[in-house]
Amino acid sequence: MYDLLLKGGTVIDPAQGKNAKLDVAVTGNVISRVAPDIPAEEATKVVDVQGKVVAPGLIDVHAHVYQPRRNPNHPDAAGVWGGVTTIADAGGSGAQNLDEFCDVTSQAQTKVYSFLSVFRDRNLPDDESLLDIDAIVKTAAENPNVVRGVKCLVQPSTVQLMGIKHVEAATKAAREAGLRVLMHIGDIGSKDLPQTPPELTSQALNLLSAGDIVTHIFTPLSGGALDPQGRMLPALIEARDRGVNLDPSYGDFNFGWDRAQLVMSQGVFPDTIGTDIDVQPGFGNRTHLMRGMLEYSAFFLELGFSMEDVVRMCTAAPAKALGLENEAGSLTEGHEADICVIDVVDGDWWLQDADGIGRSAPTALFPFLTVKSGQICEKGEEPHAWGWGPPSTAQVQAVMADGN
Ligand SMILES: [Zn+2]
Repeated sequence: MYDLLLKGGTVIDPAQGKNAKLDVAVTGNVISRVAPDIPAEEATKVVDVQGKVVAPGLIDVHAHVYQPRRNPNHPDAAGVWGGVTTIADAGGSGAQNLDEFCDVTSQAQTKVYSFLSVFRDRNLPDDESLLDIDAIVKTAAENPNVVRGVKCLVQPSTVQLMGIKHVEAATKAAREAGLRVLMHIGDIGSKDLPQTPPELTSQALNLLSAGDIVTHIFTPLSGGALDPQGRMLPALIEARDRGVNLDPSYGDFNFGWDRAQLVMSQGVFPDTIGTDIDVQPGFGNRTHLMRGMLEYSAFFLELGFSMEDVVRMCTAAPAKALGLENEAGSLTEGHEADICVIDVVDGDWWLQDADGIGRSAPTALFPFLTVKSGQICEKGEEPHAWGWGPPSTAQVQAVMADGN
């Protein structure tokens, strides 16, 4: 007898090359069978998922679900409430405060990993004296089930203080620990600071090796993948050719329709779909904009990626990027039962970029059901007043008319 049977859906599991009408059976915390027409009588609980896409639980390589001294946090708001079963927090804690990070994140149903900040406890302003390679290596070795790598940012306030010494420290620590680097590009912070020159971004990219991740490749901010003339940095192409993963996380500032198209027209494509979602205390009042992974995925359908591409960029690809391909990112029989059931909804959806440019799109993706380690997760509070997906064009037009 199976504990749970998801019946009648279309399984898309790019790790196994599957895209077909199949049922998925779960026993305890593992996937026990994926096959056509598994009889309903063989399961204690049956969920009808006809017309839905049944994908492996989604994996976010870039999220923020813990911030020191800024509680409370809701890691599941970036996780299982919206179809994401595994998150890598991007530098929310350093080696010094990983214990508190684990206290916060272990309360979540979502599995949360850490990219340790290269700075000891992510104090700002950044300070060279807060770089402690030995502490990172030691903390990573002591917490192999949590730490997946080291986070660093190439951005003006840090670059002003120390050039790319912190990137050198991050790569050194990651190499010693046998882990990967997650490197942010794009000039966040005060507009008064000088822009990061392409030469410096290139030097930082040159330090990355196969398996490292560079995030925000579609940022419209200066200091990104393109030089001020809109030309791709050769160093980014070389990094990609060495096996560096390219991630287009949006956050609040890092997606531009024209940038995405300019980057892709020069032959560079994203490997994963990270979010840079930031779970803020204001979330309880739904005041903070949160763009979940499925909502952001609709942008990639609009950019021309297929549903199978999008599922791969949210499952098999990030599993590989985080070194989790043997435990997550596929519906392989015997694997942990992490599953995301997706509602593909036709409509007229408004997808807005960081410059305020919107596009009307015919397809949006919504979370229908999340299973984490065999357990059905209750849907939590929605990130926007209008729900889990993008707003409709009509809703946006009504708000704009109201404002006039
Ligand atoms: Zn981030």
